[in-house]
Amino acid sequence: MKDFLKIWYIAPQRLCNFHCSYCVSRGDYSKSNKINWKNPKDIEGFKKIVNWISKRPFKIGLRLGSLGEPFTSCDFLDQVAWLTNQKNIQFVELLTNGSLLKQGLQKLQKKGAKFEKLSLWVSYHPSQIALDRFIDNARFAQEIYKCFVVVNGIIFPNNIEYIKNLKKATDKYDLRFNLDLGYNPDIPSTCNNVFDIGKSIPILQHYPDLKSLISLGVNEKILQINITAMKKPKGQLCSAGQNYICITINGDVYPCSRYVVLKYNKLGNILKNANAIQFKSERWKQCIVKSGCCNKEDFLNLKLVEGYINKKTPSLGWHEK
Ligand code: SF4
Ligand code: SF4
Repeated sequence: MKDFLKIWYIAPQRLCNFHCSYCVSRGDYSKSNKINWKNPKDIEGFKKIVNWISKRPFKIGLRLGSLGEPFTSCDFLDQVAWLTNQKNIQFVELLTNGSLLKQGLQKLQKKGAKFEKLSLWVSYHPSQIALDRFIDNARFAQEIYKCFVVVNGIIFPNNIEYIKNLKKATDKYDLRFNLDLGYNPDIPSTCNNVFDIGKSIPILQHYPDLKSLISLGVNEKILQINITAMKKPKGQLCSAGQNYICITINGDVYPCSRYVVLKYNKLGNILKNANAIQFKSERWKQCIVKSGCCNKEDFLNLKLVEGYINKKTPSLGWHEK
């Protein structure tokens, strides 16, 4: 019997107040600057999946993503507040651009959220928000509401100076700092052959030696694993599907988001037959994907990271030992 399951659920909430050029919410699954839910079925399905998660007979660490900015949606925040009050939920981690945190956390308070279970992965988009305001909001969440906050930078060749300033500000105010590699959203992720890694990760054209990236704040061990997972995960032992699953906006359950894209080893669908989800029984299994395992939620399940991640950390992206 499993005692803990990590879930990355990407909900169909779409509204976002930003316009980032590198946004990966595209096509059918695009964010919107106008609407929160595409149709009533989306919100119904969202509530059903949230309910299914709350009924699992083991502890859950949930990264609750969406296609847009979660703090634009009262319906979304209702479910977040409710989830933090469920016994089996160890933490709910939201991914946010940080712009609406002050109002959003006050709304969650009125809805009865338990902030000790709330984690915030707050990504900095320098073309959309001033650094002072961004940092002020992240501090508000950490210092006033005592949320588990990670400030996340996404590095591209044209934002290196912004990232340096972000790191300085997080050091000054004692905020956790994570730096992820920015990806080219135009490289098709359905391709399962070896990627041109430089095209997929533009900063590598600028800093091919990796040492400079580490000096900017990218974690060395995670960087090595990120590149291994991106180039050639095939054959690596991975626990995705056993102690971690990915749930898509239409309720499909897969071992990881890379298997979602390639339609490998579907475990079931919560909206069609919630009782028939089949988890992988063995802890470690060899990955069958040739290339392109690029999401941290996924590749942090590789055996390569074992012993490096603190399992008690309330986040699917933070790697502090
Ligand atoms: S904040 Fe996130 S969802 Fe919104 S445009 Fe930027 S990358 Fe896309
Ligand atoms: S290595 Fe990546 S693609 Fe392969 S099973 Fe693990 S998470 Fe999925």
